[in-house]
Amino acid sequence: MSNVHPAIQAFDPAVADALRHEEERQSEGLELIPSENYVSQPVLEAMGSIFTNKYSEGYPGKRYYGGQEFVDVVENLAINRAKELFGAEHVNVQPYSGSPANTAVYFALLNFGDTIMGLKLDHGGHITHGLPISFSGKSYKVVAYEVDEVTKRIDMEKVRALAIENKPKLIIAGFSAYSRSLDWKKFREIADEVGAILMADIAHIAGLIAGGALENPVPYCDVVTTTTHKTLRGPRGAMIMCKEKYAKAIDRAVFPGLQGGPHENMIAAKAIAFKEALDPAFKEYSKQTILNAQALSTELMNFGFDIMSGGTDNHLMLIDLTNKNVTGKQAQEALDFAGITVNKNTVPFDKRSPMDPSGIRLGTPAITTRGMKEAEMKWLARVINDVVNNWENAEKLAELKGEVKGVCSKFPVPGIN
Ligand SMILES: *Cc1c(COP(=O)(O)O)cnc(C)c1O
Repeated sequence: MSNVHPAIQAFDPAVADALRHEEERQSEGLELIPSENYVSQPVLEAMGSIFTNKYSEGYPGKRYYGGQEFVDVVENLAINRAKELFGAEHVNVQPYSGSPANTAVYFALLNFGDTIMGLKLDHGGHITHGLPISFSGKSYKVVAYEVDEVTKRIDMEKVRALAIENKPKLIIAGFSAYSRSLDWKKFREIADEVGAILMADIAHIAGLIAGGALENPVPYCDVVTTTTHKTLRGPRGAMIMCKEKYAKAIDRAVFPGLQGGPHENMIAAKAIAFKEALDPAFKEYSKQTILNAQALSTELMNFGFDIMSGGTDNHLMLIDLTNKNVTGKQAQEALDFAGITVNKNTVPFDKRSPMDPSGIRLGTPAITTRGMKEAEMKWLARVINDVVNNWENAEKLAELKGEVKGVCSKFPVPGIN
């Protein structure tokens, strides 16, 4: 395999070695981190293309540097395809990643000290939705809503009561670790009732929405942000979609408010990923991703695993391992030994710490891209159960790793020979 990246191998064997080992890790193991996926060869090539050489501060047709005729072509392709995919009035494809995209929205629409309302981090929210130590938490007054202690679901009447009490300027609907569909219409009604701007952050589920498997929040929201990696299966990066009336403020906040030159190699890759997402095959992919998550969660519940809210409507699930007498960290490490990558995660109302929480988070976007289906989910649930029951048994974990490698060899990873 050492000649797979001949130019890197020749110049920098240390990086080439790490890259080769990472290719082995990605193809021989199972990737269950719900925010990860495998991009296609065309997306990979665009990211590594000479568009990286070009500076293009500004927007198509209004740039601060010369030589923009081809950069404008790819940026316009990305914008127009994103509009078609999500039915958005205005799209900015320049945000470097999801966190800068959210920051740009706040910078565009809020004054420092304004009140924002988002889902609490340990209830499934994201750090940029108002975690006290993050930029969002330090710059704005944060009112966090939670999931219900019994159902582990967001109770929209409680969201409404909190909004009426605190009159936030911005309500954020979105999550990184929540397995149920959000009621976009109800969020809109609450925002209207209290005069708030409504933002959806669909970083995790954008691909499922683009593929038509989940309801699209764009018609209901003033602003929608998303990463372009995760289920959308594009390059690392993000975009902001908004109603025309916010277009100018959003564009100005991204550049020059927050960023300088856009990464046009990534924007070219976004354009390609959006073309892929417009293809009918992507509908199948997004549907199968959810079917796989539902099959996996059902099988795991049959083994006695405590899935938060009792199942999933999307690509992910959160498992409280307390009844299995293993912590999230112990399970994550044991699964790693067996070639299965997951992340430890706090569960709502967790009594343990984020560094060693009670749960793990699993998702199916990456394994669905490899072509796995319900039959593999049944197998996978059995393997996960075996790992958790034998988390201290190195011999057994090594044996399971062999089994995982065998199954993985039948499901090639895009972009890896
Ligand atoms: C992943 C994620 C982000 C941030 O994305 P980065 O690209 O990691 O900065 C923002 N919001 C939500 C809900 C996410 O899940």
